[in-house]
Amino acid sequence: MSWFKRVEKGIVTPTEEKKETPDGLWYKCPECKTVATMAEHKRLLYTCANCNHHDRINSAEYFEVLFDDNQFTELDADLTSGDPLHFVDTKPYPQRVAATERATGLHDAVRTAYGRSQGAELVIACMDFKFIGGSMGSVVGEKIARAIDYARQHRIPFLMISKSGGARMMEAGYSLMQMAKTSAKLALLSEAGVPYVSLLTDPTTGGVTASFAMLGDFNIAEPGALIGFAGPRVIKETIGKDLPKDFQSSEFVLEHGFLDFIVDRKDLKQKLADLLHLLRPAAVAEVVPVAAARR
Ligand SMILES: [Zn+2]
Repeated sequence: MSWFKRVEKGIVTPTEEKKETPDGLWYKCPECKTVATMAEHKRLLYTCANCNHHDRINSAEYFEVLFDDNQFTELDADLTSGDPLHFVDTKPYPQRVAATERATGLHDAVRTAYGRSQGAELVIACMDFKFIGGSMGSVVGEKIARAIDYARQHRIPFLMISKSGGARMMEAGYSLMQMAKTSAKLALLSEAGVPYVSLLTDPTTGGVTASFAMLGDFNIAEPGALIGFAGPRVIKETIGKDLPKDFQSSEFVLEHGFLDFIVDRKDLKQKLADLLHLLRPAAVAEVVPVAAARR
């Protein structure tokens, strides 16, 4: 029975160094393999204490991170997708939506809400990657458009948190129309002088990158997020060349001028409050007559 023989010494831990494991649940960082308790992982807002890897989180966690005391009012919570194309892949689209709704407790890949963050009013639209890869179909586009309308009508700054594989193939052309619709709504928001901050998280790709995610007054991102239009494999196969190291990471995208800054999730709430304080509508309104006078 040689496989039961202890070959290495020194794995006896003194009692004072033994760690408590009250919840019995562990998190292992996919980057550096450091192990932490789930409680510690949550306390660090789902980032790794060792390498600062930002774990993918969903709208429920972002709302908890950003809204004061997790208090918010959800907009259009019950909007669900139709099946305009009668799309069938391995199963019919309505069945896929119903199964995903049951598995995730969500109705589509974005949730929109308003509340207060650091005491100031804020409208947030946050995508959920676990709902069909955060894909943008007609419900995602419509909910974002309505949230932008709400922000414009009430003159409240708008934050978009993107996390998406791109357009939803089951809605084909209807998905692509959402790019134009959300972009047009953001143009109206901009005309009204209401600030828009776009936060890109891992991953932000396809039609989302090509529309609302890159249209912020400030485009900011979490560290190490994949940001691009087509994925690296597709690009590599198309151009037939090896891609640079860290291609399409937020750091790479920042260096090439597509982002304003990268924000650690643990600093997000405060940095956002500072930024929105600078961009507050009153300050924008003071600038408008000067620009108008020049014309
Ligand atoms: Zn790590």
